[in-house]
Amino acid sequence: MKNEKQKQNIVLRPPVVAIMGHVDHGKSTLLDYIRKTNIVEGEAGGITQRISAYEVVHKNEKGEDMKITFLDTPGHEAFSSMRERGAQVADIAILIVSAEDSVKAQTIEAYKTIIESNTPFIVAINKIDKTGANIEKVKMDLAEKEIYLEGYGGKVPCAEISAKQGTGVGELLNLILLVAEMENFTGDTLVPAEGMVLESNLDPKRGIQATLIIKNGTLEKGMILKAGGAICGTRIMEDFLNKQIDNATFSSPIRMVGFDSIPKAGDNFRSFKNKKEAESATIEQKKFTSSAKIERGCEVPLIIKADTSGALEALEKEVNKIKIENCGFRIVQKSIGAINESDLKSAEAVRNDVGKGTLIIGFNVKIDNHSKDICEKYQIIIETSDIIYKLTDWLKERLEERRPKEEKMEVSGKAKILRTFSKTKEKQIVGGKVTEGKIVADGPVRIMRRESEIGIGKIIGLEKNKVKSKEVEEGSEFGMMVETKIDIASGDVLESFIMVNK
Ligand code: GDP
Repeated sequence: MKNEKQKQNIVLRPPVVAIMGHVDHGKSTLLDYIRKTNIVEGEAGGITQRISAYEVVHKNEKGEDMKITFLDTPGHEAFSSMRERGAQVADIAILIVSAEDSVKAQTIEAYKTIIESNTPFIVAINKIDKTGANIEKVKMDLAEKEIYLEGYGGKVPCAEISAKQGTGVGELLNLILLVAEMENFTGDTLVPAEGMVLESNLDPKRGIQATLIIKNGTLEKGMILKAGGAICGTRIMEDFLNKQIDNATFSSPIRMVGFDSIPKAGDNFRSFKNKKEAESATIEQKKFTSSAKIERGCEVPLIIKADTSGALEALEKEVNKIKIENCGFRIVQKSIGAINESDLKSAEAVRNDVGKGTLIIGFNVKIDNHSKDICEKYQIIIETSDIIYKLTDWLKERLEERRPKEEKMEVSGKAKILRTFSKTKEKQIVGGKVTEGKIVADGPVRIMRRESEIGIGKIIGLEKNKVKSKEVEEGSEFGMMVETKIDIASGDVLESFIMVNK
């Protein structure tokens, strides 16, 4: 709880930076270059896998070592929504534009996201080493889209770089520090840490872990963290180089191990002095992304056609009502008359831009013959009908198909341990009885003692009546081999998990 008398210690904090821009314009190359050159030598070698955020050190113009945190949001399917979150959690955005290809659709999309989230930003014109590079053209193209750079009628700072060769990257980092200084980002070291979940996963050996970024306050061992509905102790806390740490403060990415359920990327987290406080706190489910807006990751482009303007309007209204979770349609074009070649061309252009197939629906209209052939070639999906609800039902099905499915962990069953047998360092054989649901082979288990989790394990062998089984159902006894460091005792309860796509 905040009150007036609470002590404060407001200090400047390092900026959190997201790099955004069109695919292939050099985001990953720039992140790689900075990671390789600005993480203290020797330590960078410790990074064995992709990490979703990292801290670098760069000397400012006064020669002082300054920290900057970079977000490295993954390039997979959830990229668009992560990009939005990136912009929300970032203090500064870098809009990267290739000097060879200039402004593209996703440059503009990224720009819109940056503006909507009111994030200060810097333009980085990349690939200046290429023979086809045309820096002037990029600047003019940006101005045409009302992005006015310094010296081109505006205030947006700009760096000209080659992410591949490293040219100009130092200047870009200087600019970041300059913007941070102007914006005066601060945090309070004395409040409990809060921030956002960047990613999470279930590690079969370690349990549920998540990478978080602290946006304010301090997290210390002994505190309890809550992200969405998931709770985590601070027993295992690591920095972005996987080193154990005892405390962490703002702008630092950290990895926490031991969540009781998988927190979602984009969830806010808060921290508490003890479990009781954490449990009683109703965490705001507010996300950094505005809830009213559809995440671009599951926005399906759609062209609508109808025979009259009244019908078109009615159809549009119905289409806008279709939402599954935070997925919906974006009407990219609407017009009256038969579905024709120009509609197909628009659909194809959208696909090239956003990489997703556009759907076309027509109410009370036909597809002209020539277009029928083309749509097969381009794999454009068209549905026509003279009944609106048939079209909307069809759209709902398509949306369900395209909705990004999330892998969630669900308890499939519980079992009571009746006997324990041999135990090696990492493996134990136990016998028990399924008390609820079913126990599934090869899956993770949570080991509970007196209703508290004491550890996690993985079933590596499961037998029913001495016969190898894939699963054992309620009421049956079983023998199993569990991979775990925990010493399982009679009376412990094992919760078996399965991953489900939802
Ligand atoms: P992303 O999709 O935005 O992450 O783009 P990448 O970083 O994967 O870059 C796409 C391609 O452009 C790769 O083949 C890079 O090697 C190349 N590239 C990126 N930056 C530069 C640069 O500054 N100069 C040159 N010549 N190539 C670059």
